[in-house]
Formats: sequence, structure tokens, C-alpha cells
Amino acid sequence: MLAGLLLLGAGTVHASEPATVAQRVDRLLRQMTLEEKVGQLNQLSGKEFTGPANDKAVNMEREIRSGRVGSMLNIKGAADTRRLQAMALQSRLKIPLLFGLDVIHGYQTVFPVPLGEASSWDLEAMEESARIAAREAAASGIHWTFAPMVDIGRDPRWGRVMEGAGEDTYLGSRIAAARVRGFQGARLGGLESVMATAKHFAAYGAAIAGRDYNAVDMSEQLLHETYLPPFKAAVDAGAATFMNAFNTLNGIPATGHSGLQRDILKGAWGFQGIVVSDWGSVREMVVHGHAQDLPDAAAKAIVAGSDMDMESNAYASSLAKLVRDGKVPVKLVDDAVRRVLVKKFELGLFDDPYRFSDPARERAAMSDPRHRQAARATAAKSIVLLKNDQGVLPLKRGLGAIAVIGPLADARRDLEGGWIVKSDAATMASLVDAVREQAGPATRVSYAAGCDVACRDTGGFAAALEAAAGADAVVLAVGESWDMSGEAKSRADIRLPGRQGELFEALRAIGKTPVVVVMAGRPLIFENIAEQANSILYAWFPGSEGGRAIADLLFGAANPSAKLPMTFPRNMGQLPISYQQYETGRPVRDDKNIVYKSAYIDSPNTPRYAFGHGLSYTSFAYRDLRVSSAGMGPDGKLTLSFTLANTGPVAGAEVVQLYVRDPVASIVRPMKELKGFQRIHLAPGQQQAVSFTIDRDSLAFFDRKLQWAVEPGRFELMVGSASDDIRLRQAIEVTAR
Ligand code: BGC
Repeated sequence: MLAGLLLLGAGTVHASEPATVAQRVDRLLRQMTLEEKVGQLNQLSGKEFTGPANDKAVNMEREIRSGRVGSMLNIKGAADTRRLQAMALQSRLKIPLLFGLDVIHGYQTVFPVPLGEASSWDLEAMEESARIAAREAAASGIHWTFAPMVDIGRDPRWGRVMEGAGEDTYLGSRIAAARVRGFQGARLGGLESVMATAKHFAAYGAAIAGRDYNAVDMSEQLLHETYLPPFKAAVDAGAATFMNAFNTLNGIPATGHSGLQRDILKGAWGFQGIVVSDWGSVREMVVHGHAQDLPDAAAKAIVAGSDMDMESNAYASSLAKLVRDGKVPVKLVDDAVRRVLVKKFELGLFDDPYRFSDPARERAAMSDPRHRQAARATAAKSIVLLKNDQGVLPLKRGLGAIAVIGPLADARRDLEGGWIVKSDAATMASLVDAVREQAGPATRVSYAAGCDVACRDTGGFAAALEAAAGADAVVLAVGESWDMSGEAKSRADIRLPGRQGELFEALRAIGKTPVVVVMAGRPLIFENIAEQANSILYAWFPGSEGGRAIADLLFGAANPSAKLPMTFPRNMGQLPISYQQYETGRPVRDDKNIVYKSAYIDSPNTPRYAFGHGLSYTSFAYRDLRVSSAGMGPDGKLTLSFTLANTGPVAGAEVVQLYVRDPVASIVRPMKELKGFQRIHLAPGQQQAVSFTIDRDSLAFFDRKLQWAVEPGRFELMVGSASDDIRLRQAIEVTAR
């Protein structure tokens, strides 16, 4: 019997025994040497395995076979993941590897970049896109995606705003939960799900001056009210893993921050999953000036609650000795290893280490036409109509000639944006292609780039003007290239690159005011276009089907419904900027005797486009606000309702937004905070009752005692179509409990 049991391999429990995951993990832990335990906490990148044979791959293979690697990143595809898993199964205890990868907005099918997708405010669509990404990734052997990034971003100079859900905590929290649910499915271990990672814990998005990796300095209030809630939402949605961050927070590197990782995440929030470091962030604690050397960094990281070391080689090289020297208690190592093993059991890897790496399922998942259809529908919901004066859009069908101009008009790779697994550009339609597909046979479609994205000279403008001259409609596609936003892609100047703005002017000078399509991974500044264009679509990087989705909107096959998840500034001097402004003692609108106002002498305070802004081809009326009672009593609930009507000519969806203000509080509150939203689709002439339930908790803030509190008194409720377009207001009285 004993022999039979051993033959079954590590972690296997005899059928007659209770086989809870916890028991299987304990049994396995007891068999492990200290080196094998440390191995489980070591994550390495396997890029070397994908190219020709080399020494690094040979060494890594030896490490894997000896059980000194717990997880690999950057290995993908059923064949390669099987090959590496086979190496791990030759180790003494046959503990399978976890394969992690940055599946950020799609694996094979590329969805809009996360910030773009967030503009849809469509939680179901975002859950579905994460689901499709998980289906494709899981079939190719991936167990774990390093997504969603749930960092709040209020400074568009920071290139990674592209990977998040924008500036708002409430919207960001809802999206964080939706994405976690999408990636993970109903439970871990499903063959169409991958473990999600809430990253980067924490406050990484608040890097000083928007420079990636820079230090972060913030109050406890800002941390707890604004930056942490999306992470809490991810925990509540069941996120299996967290990634810490490169930044220091008030002087302490996030990777070595026990207040964040031990007290808040694993303590107060009860997180049971794995905390992985960011790439090399354990090692970087030495560079920060927080750790003496690599062993010191390893000790500080594990003590602070970082379970797995991504690519620092700090745990692998020092942790066993630190334990033997009595510098790190072995129980900290055991706890970290337990977290890793639990996930390996929950994924079913001890029962079948190859279950995810299935070439047949991989082929089927990659060629499922429904994935591209979903990408197109989601992209159309993610593209924001910023401006549409004189109803220029949608374009009429059957025009004689359309000119599609601009450096991004025929782009394919740029449509996909950054952080993709592999480019599918060869199979994609550019905007020009898509306009040709949709304009109809009677319409002549011409194209000229005018310049490339860098647009340093105007030599190509003449050809563009010539193409535009005879056209009945001109579409100008400008913006960033895909590699201008993302990690380490901070920009000090976020205006349209080069002389792209002059191309617009040149078209205007020949009497052609183009419809402007902007592609970018962040809010850009394009003041001349914002002032003078009649119609502007902000497409972000819209993904594999982005060209077609833009054309769907241009021709009215789809009606724009997206709303900005980030404020668009007028100029760089306004940064950082968010709709959550505070009343100063010297407000601009109150000029009674106030000579020195809180204002710029050379710019308005207001943004170019406000958070929540986005137009439609139809119009919506908001009427008849009612509340279930004039105050919120001790039961702590109140319902607000109103009627939304589609008063325009076509069907469309409106994202209705609920904002709250607490006008007098012991800690001054922002003038508006988003507390609810709904996406409502209405046929022309149709109307619908909309209601929001507001509970007491949503009125709370983090008080001077560093606790969540609701202070009784008057609160203002505001319902609108954007943060700067409030249509209905109501005050309520909140009584003490
Ligand atoms: C990024 C992470 C990413 C990791 C692995 C790091 O540089 O900050 O977001 O998941 O690399 O690729």
C-alpha cells in the first residue's frame, strides 16, 4: 500500500483519505527540503527557451529539473508549456510549474487597450473580453495572467494609464471585479480560466510627475479612499494573485512594505492567494537605497509578505541561508510556499499537469469567429464621440468620394496597442480597409498618410491635400503609435506628436474640415483640433477589429456610447487632473471681493473634456427625479429614481452617472464623487425608469482616526450624462445611526 502511494507521486492522497487541498498541501510541505520550498517561490522568465539553444536555457532546464523553479513567465503555446512542464515533472517531488503571462487585453484576439475598454463602462463586455482572453490563453497552457492592472491613473504623462481603468475609484473598482471574474470564471481550475493578478500593489499610478517607476508620496486618506479600493474589489471578486510594485510609497518600496502586504492585504482583507513581486522589484530595493544587498532585499521582501520573487534571483540565491542563519523564520517561507501550492492544487495541476496545454483546444480557441465579433462590438462601445457639431457624423452612405488621410489611417499594428501576446496585424483591416468595406461600391475611397506618426516634416502633405481635394468627406486619423504608451513610456509632452496638428490645419486651409479619429493609449492634447474640428472620435487603440469598429461608428452602423474614464486636459500645466476637484476658499465662480482666485492666469481651470463625457447620435432627456425618502435613516438605504428618455432619431445607449457630494465634513470632500452608473439602451422615443440604491457605506470617507465613517448631515445627489453635465439634483439628510 505504501509503495503504491509513493508511486502515485507527490501530493497524491489515497482515495480512502479525506483529500482537502489543505491536507494535500501540508503533506507535500512536510516532504520538502528547504531548497525545494525556496524553489516554489522562484519565478523565472523563459524567453531563452523560445529561441535557438543557448547556455541560459540549459542552466534553467537544470534548475527546473532539480525543483528550484516554481513558476515560469513568458512561455506560451501548448507545445512549449508541455515541454517545460515535462522538465518539472522530473524533479524529486514532481511539483508542476505555473505558467504566467501578461495577457492584458487579449491573447490571440486583441480587444481595445484596457483604458479604451473602460470607456465602454460596460461591465459585461469587459467580463466577456477577459473571458475570451482566458479561453485562448488557457488552451495554450497559460495558468496565470498578470492582469488586471487596477492602478488609478490621474496623470496622462504616465504611459501605463493605458493598462488601467482610468482615474476613478468607483468605476475602477467595478471594472477590477468584472475583469477578475472574466479571467477566472466561476472557479479556478476551469479549463477556460486563468488566475488573475491585481496589480501593482499599491499606488504605482501616482508616480510623481507621471514618470514611470517614480516615488509616490501620499496621505493615508488618498491611499485608502482612492488607490486601494480597486484592489479590495479584486480581493472580494476572488482574485487568486496580487503583484506588488516598483515604486516606493512614502519612502518604503512596495515590495518591502509590510503595512501594505501583511497588514492590509493579508491581514485586514484576509487575502489567501499569492503575492508575486514585480519584475526584479526585490533586487531594486537595493537600488532604491532600502536594502543593503540582495540577501537583505530578500529578507525584507519575504518578511513584508512578498511570496514569489519574479526574476530577481534573490530568494533562490539567499533565502535558504537566511533561514539557516535564523534571519528569516521558516514559517514565513512555509506560508508563502503553501499559498503557491494551494493554487497549483486548485488548478488541478497535481492531478493532470498538462490539462491546460491542449493543442486541439488551442487550435479551436484561436480560430473561433465569435471572438473577433466580440472584439468588434466591444471596440465600438469603447470609442468616444468627443464632439459632433452640426451633426457631421454619421457619414451618409453613397457619397461620391471619401478621403481617408493621416499617419494612422492605414495602420494595423498600431490598432492593437501595447502589451499584446502576438500581433495579428496581417489578418486585420486598417481604417482605410474598413471604410472601403463599408462605404459601398459607388463610393471612391482614396488614402494618403500625409506623414508618419513622428510627423517631422510636411513633405507628404501635398499628396494628402490632393487626395482630399475632390472628396465629399475627409477622415483624418492621427495620434500615437502603439509603442508610445505603456510601461516606461512616460511622456513629458502629451500633445499630438510632431506636426500632425498642422496636417489638420492644411486640410482646413483647402476648405476641408475633416472628421478626426484619434488613436492613443492615453488622453492627448490636440487643442487646435478640439477647437476647430466639427467631429472627433477618440478611438484609443481599439484592437484586432478596431478599424471596422471605427467605420461602424463613422457610418452609423453603431451608435457611439462610450464615456471618458479619464479627464482630458487642455494643456500640460493642468496636470495631474481629475474631476475630483476640491472647493478652495477662493473659488473662481464666486468673485465677490475675491481678487486672488484659485485659477491660472493663462488657462481655464476646466478640462478640455471632462470625466464621463461622451456623445451619441441620439439625445437623452433626464426627468422626474424622486427619492424614496427625504433622508437616510438608520437602515442606511435610499432609492433614487428618474426617467430617462431617448429623444433623438436613433437607438442608442446612455451611461447615466450618479455623483455624490458631502458639502460639510471634518475632512473636506471632493465636489463630486461617482457612486453609481448604468448603461441603458433605448429605442428612439422609448423611455425607462432608472433607479439607484444608495447605501450608507457609499457615503463614507476615511476620517482622522483612519477609519471609514459617515458624518450625518446634508448630502447632494447628482445625476447626469457626464461629470460636467449634471441634469438632476436632490439633497438628502443623513441622520446619525
Ligand atoms: C511590469 C508588470 C508585468 C511584468 C511581467 C513588469 O515590468 O511592471 O506589469 O506583469 O513586468 O512582464
